[in-house]
Amino acid sequence: MDYLPLFVDLRERRVLIVGGGETAAQKLRLLRKAGARALVVAVQPVAEIAELAATGEITLERRAFRAADVEGCAVVVSADPESNEAVSVAARAANIPVNVVDRADLSNFLVPAIVDRSPIVVGISSGGTAPLLARLLRARLETLLPARLGELAGFAARFRTAVKGVIGEARSRRRFWERFFDSPAAEAVLAGNERAAREAMLLMLNKAAHAEGGVVYLVGAGPGDPDLLTFQALRLMQQADVVLYDELIGPDILDRVRRDAERIAVGKTKGHQALPQSDINRLMAGLAGEGKRVLRLKGGDPFVFGRGGEEMDYLRQRGIEVVVAPGLTAANGCLAAAGIPLTHRDMASSVTFVTGHAKLGDAEPDWAALADADRTLVVYMGLSTAATVAERLIAAGLSAATPVAIIQNGTRADQIVVTGALRDLGVLAEPRLGQGPALLVIGQVVTLSPAWAQLLPLKVRA
Ligand code: SAH
Repeated sequence: MDYLPLFVDLRERRVLIVGGGETAAQKLRLLRKAGARALVVAVQPVAEIAELAATGEITLERRAFRAADVEGCAVVVSADPESNEAVSVAARAANIPVNVVDRADLSNFLVPAIVDRSPIVVGISSGGTAPLLARLLRARLETLLPARLGELAGFAARFRTAVKGVIGEARSRRRFWERFFDSPAAEAVLAGNERAAREAMLLMLNKAAHAEGGVVYLVGAGPGDPDLLTFQALRLMQQADVVLYDELIGPDILDRVRRDAERIAVGKTKGHQALPQSDINRLMAGLAGEGKRVLRLKGGDPFVFGRGGEEMDYLRQRGIEVVVAPGLTAANGCLAAAGIPLTHRDMASSVTFVTGHAKLGDAEPDWAALADADRTLVVYMGLSTAATVAERLIAAGLSAATPVAIIQNGTRADQIVVTGALRDLGVLAEPRLGQGPALLVIGQVVTLSPAWAQLLPLKVRA
């Protein structure tokens, strides 16, 4: 970083502007906006500057620059080709920050492109390398940041003391504010409805007056590609104090969790068994009991073969607040990545997600009921039982020639898609064991995937 952005208080401070052209007038406007008392030194000032001087709002000296002009100034700006070098030398000699417009070499501070939603102010600088790019970015931010963002900051400031009075503990207070900026109260401020905002805020404060506990965010991280995270997931990932994550969570997703959050791997890791579910439950409840924001980060969607339902139930029974954030389930993400539609008007009027790995003692899926040529069947956790799944479906009457696909490490850089016929599902699955999470897809829709198209010549031979 070549330049450190700083925000300087120039209220009632004396500043010097050398030059009387349009650029100088522009800088003068900016400095006056910041409350500075300006001295302009210019031989031929434009009308705007002359008028400000006439009404006594600035001091104007109609003459050439002298080194002594910099004395007592907080900052100096020069926009006068005749004196730029001299101004720079004089200011530096006096240790006064100086900016020479469009001359980074003569400056020791730069004036950024500014998005002003006072008191929220965004400054953008390219360090003098690409001012146009900085201005384009500013234009984009202008459209992105709500017009009443400043009002929102002011509103929050007015309530700061009240909030402090109601919520003593710093961490709970931080959580309160995080919730506030995402609340109907904040929405109301941004919509210009101050009264509704006050009412909503008072309601929030009332609620907060009843002790703040911890919270568990049950968050789905999608099938692997970080691009498939939801905004909600990212936001909660940024708020967590501690994260409990599964083996399906890759490093590129974990990297997006708040940097100083504690990280606990609860899934299988090299040489370690996964933590039993009962321990995970107790751990989450214990951490939330300490008032922490616990991020339970799961692959795919927490409510699809993710034990999210059990965890939510366990926590709610203990009176712990649970926030559920959906994720793209593997079937959604992986089939899209493999070019296989889940449903199709001519090929599949229904779609079913089943597990190929029933818990010991649990009922197996009713394969006979699922043997249906007009259905897409997506089998989770089915790699090791692929041969049996195929056997059962064929026995129940599904054609042995039904197209199938295996999608392994779907949406990730090492994604693999293999296709074939139902009768060969076991053979296709065998070499893929232990190579990463995989889905079995059974149904006509598989024929639409690029992987199937590549397989066709082989099929013709067979
Ligand atoms: N809650 C998760 C599923 C967890 S069960 C979800 O909604 O996706 C774990 C199974 O999900 C794996 O055995 C595999 O069948 C499937 N799975 C998860 N991520 C996958 C991926 N990137 N590629 C293929 N299958 C995946």
